[in-house]
Amino acid sequence: MQNLPSLFNRSARRWLLHTQAWLLPSRCLLCDAPGTGMLDMCRACETTLPWSLAACPRCAMPVPAGDGGTPCGDCSRRRGILESTLATFVYQWPVDTLLRRFKFDGDLAAGRMLAQMMACRFAPASVGNPVLVPVPLHDNRLRGRGYDQAAELARPLASVLGLECRAILRRRIATAAQSSLDAVARRRNVWGAFQCVAPVPAHLVLVDDVMTTGATLQSAAQALRQAGARQVGAWVCARAP
Ligand SMILES: [Zn+2]
Ligand SMILES: [Zn+2]
Repeated sequence: MQNLPSLFNRSARRWLLHTQAWLLPSRCLLCDAPGTGMLDMCRACETTLPWSLAACPRCAMPVPAGDGGTPCGDCSRRRGILESTLATFVYQWPVDTLLRRFKFDGDLAAGRMLAQMMACRFAPASVGNPVLVPVPLHDNRLRGRGYDQAAELARPLASVLGLECRAILRRRIATAAQSSLDAVARRRNVWGAFQCVAPVPAHLVLVDDVMTTGATLQSAAQALRQAGARQVGAWVCARAP
């Protein structure tokens, strides 16, 4: 049975959210026009969103319209560790701007909105109830930033989709920023960087903000597989083309 304080907290939180929506109508985070319903984005900006419509089912690389559902050339040649990867967006304007603001400028409202959009996109893939596992930052970077962007996306995503979110990975090596490296150096940079710090569920999905070459996700998936995970997929907010 739930105790009174937790019931109170939940109804108080709901009341606060409703009051906030009434007192502070949503505004577009890109142009400041009135938002659409509860979303902090106007209809005009919404039409510019680069949804990932046709993509490789294993690595989420955008492919020509009509080719979606068929593995891309790379994935047909070699089987990766990830069973499947889904991206909500292609990493293009204005999602790249929103993600940079979320990641580097402390704009948590941008993160919340992106998580809402990810939830709409990933709802059909949530059958089977995978456990969501955010790809963690190293403790040093977490201390500097004050929050972990993958966890900030994974938690609301899990809550909206009724899934469990478990932070069972730890980044044990403070790796160099991936953005400064080429593809081969990225793989070398993050290989062996993760370890599991709690029991691993059989079916899970890694959650991250951006996928570029996939080296970080592959390394995290490798650690989870070694710890006993049977099925590891990935959901990312945006995939770099
Ligand atoms: Zn707008
Ligand atoms: Zn592929």
